[in-house]
Amino acid sequence: MEKTGVSETSKKERRAIRKALVSWFTANQRRLPWRETTDPYHVWVSEVMLQQTQVNTVISYYKRFLDQFPDIFYLAAADAQDVLKCWEGLGYYARARNLHSAARRLVAENQGRIPCEWAAFRKLPGVGDYIASAVLSIAFGKPYPMVDGNVKRVLSRLFAINAPVNRSASYRIFRETARMLLDKTIPGRFNQAVMEVGAIVCKPRRPDCDACPVRRWCRALADDRVAGYPVRIKRTPVPEYRMAIGVVAKGRKLLIVQRPYDGMLGGLWEFPGGVRQSGESAASACARSVGETVGLEVEIESRLTRIRHAYTHFKVVADVFLCRYRGGRVRRNGPIAHQWVLAKGLSRYPLPGSHHKFIPALLENRSI
Ligand code: SF4
Repeated sequence: MEKTGVSETSKKERRAIRKALVSWFTANQRRLPWRETTDPYHVWVSEVMLQQTQVNTVISYYKRFLDQFPDIFYLAAADAQDVLKCWEGLGYYARARNLHSAARRLVAENQGRIPCEWAAFRKLPGVGDYIASAVLSIAFGKPYPMVDGNVKRVLSRLFAINAPVNRSASYRIFRETARMLLDKTIPGRFNQAVMEVGAIVCKPRRPDCDACPVRRWCRALADDRVAGYPVRIKRTPVPEYRMAIGVVAKGRKLLIVQRPYDGMLGGLWEFPGGVRQSGESAASACARSVGETVGLEVEIESRLTRIRHAYTHFKVVADVFLCRYRGGRVRRNGPIAHQWVLAKGLSRYPLPGSHHKFIPALLENRSI
């Protein structure tokens, strides 16, 4: 194993670092609803939501989700569309689909019990090392280290680790460091303490080193190199796609189509459209892509708006058009399902975040 910095600290120092982190956490942690429980289902839901999403955003979703699906049996019995609707706006919808499938599997095969063993829990849909470590350490007191972006940043500064935090090969270095530092007597509290220091003290920009419980041992601070950590490799800029979206009206109803469950935004509903081809106007791209994806002939009436939306690996600039249905039937081998709905009925369907950027303008439009 590559030397990580933590291996050069003495056992005594590690004990002191653990104690400082946990004492600081006891006195300074934020009051968050999922910290008031060690119920494995609640911990699991919160940690799935917290992956990729800010704490402040998660709070209301977490409460709403548990109101609607208070235990694993409610979740397992729920309709997939209701789960997605409850998750709507939180993004990364595979998280919701996987949580739902895992709940169904546990109810069908394990009397609804959440396993407290690594191998059994880790093989459930959507459960990676992070979720497994979170649930097993916080809910069951098992000695597994949690490693997320906050933890990697703290460890990289504390032990002056040069491995780039955004290189997948570095993961084992950070996990091994976290494992060696872990307080095995209170792993859940310890894991949360490191993450909390990362979230509110050792922040990405301008860390508050004066308030840091581990400043005595921090190598980056001692070397006056805090700004040099964490090390990152440069990523190539994400591509930007120009798209056209068609709000197709037939009478007073609008066409929405459902995306396949196994892909990006799987199971969500959207207006049809597609990527503009080179040299093609946005309006032509809209009519062509609606024809190609759902098989309808439409007439472009007006441009509603232009929206921009960023996903993890690409960005989209989309022109949204109001279109009038002129002919054809929605193709059976196109989207997995379609509906003609009144504009005011759109709120019953889980829609992608990009659509919520133009739906207010759509609802205000008098021609719909
Ligand atoms: Fe981060 Fe500063 Fe604490 Fe070091 S001393 S771990 S850089 S906040």
